[in-house]
Amino acid sequence: MMKYKRVLLKISGESLCEPGGFGIDDAQTREIAEMIAKVCKTGAQVAIVVGGGNLLRGKTFSKDSYIPRATADYMGMLATVMNATALREGLAISGQPARVLSAIEVPAINERFVRRNCISYLEQNSVTILAGGTGNPFFSTDTCAALRAAEIDADVIIKATKVDGVFTDDPVTNPSAELIPKITYQDILHKDLKVIDHAAISICRENNIPIRVINIFKENNISDVLAGKDIGTLISN
Ligand code: UDP
Repeated sequence: MMKYKRVLLKISGESLCEPGGFGIDDAQTREIAEMIAKVCKTGAQVAIVVGGGNLLRGKTFSKDSYIPRATADYMGMLATVMNATALREGLAISGQPARVLSAIEVPAINERFVRRNCISYLEQNSVTILAGGTGNPFFSTDTCAALRAAEIDADVIIKATKVDGVFTDDPVTNPSAELIPKITYQDILHKDLKVIDHAAISICRENNIPIRVINIFKENNISDVLAGKDIGTLISN
């Protein structure tokens, strides 16, 4: 029995490359696609918001650059379209139908995000990969994940990261940092924890959407969350 039926999975662009790397890595993309295809076999409805940080982040790119932030952000949104295209292909190779619905239209390769269509594809057990972020500069794909989760009435957001959840400090640089199993939206904002955008947290709090922060590199983590297992960090009211 599944605890959550419809899930919004947020994966960062970096999940498609070597840790700390750049670009789209073939083996990594295959691993992620195969993992998601397996999750879909449990009957879960999966919508994915994919980031673009493995290719370009607007804020970083425009810093000390003559390319202004807004333009760099549009480039970042295009990066998410590239990632989504690779992921869709990976899912198809794994036998899992998937569609890219994008807030930034590139008619030759994707269709526009339309809420009604997205829900209908999910009900037909097709994965929907939501590309192009919100379609607006100065936003992030975390905020997009929260927004889309509210729109499509997702039961939970799974934020896939390279670590096991939310920690008291950065576990990569501080080995004595401890995992926090449960935390409120309010505490994330209050303690200024950088795990997920504050704008995203606000949308989730407003709409009462639980967020599970988990390690994407651990086999079965996503299915375990859907089955109701207590892994990673739960962010809720
Ligand atoms: N972006 C944007 N608006 C959005 C979503 C994304 O402008 O609604 C741009 C922004 O420049 C961002 C980049 O796309 O840095 C890639 O997204 P993000 O940094 O969220 O990717 P992730 O860190 O999850 O890989």
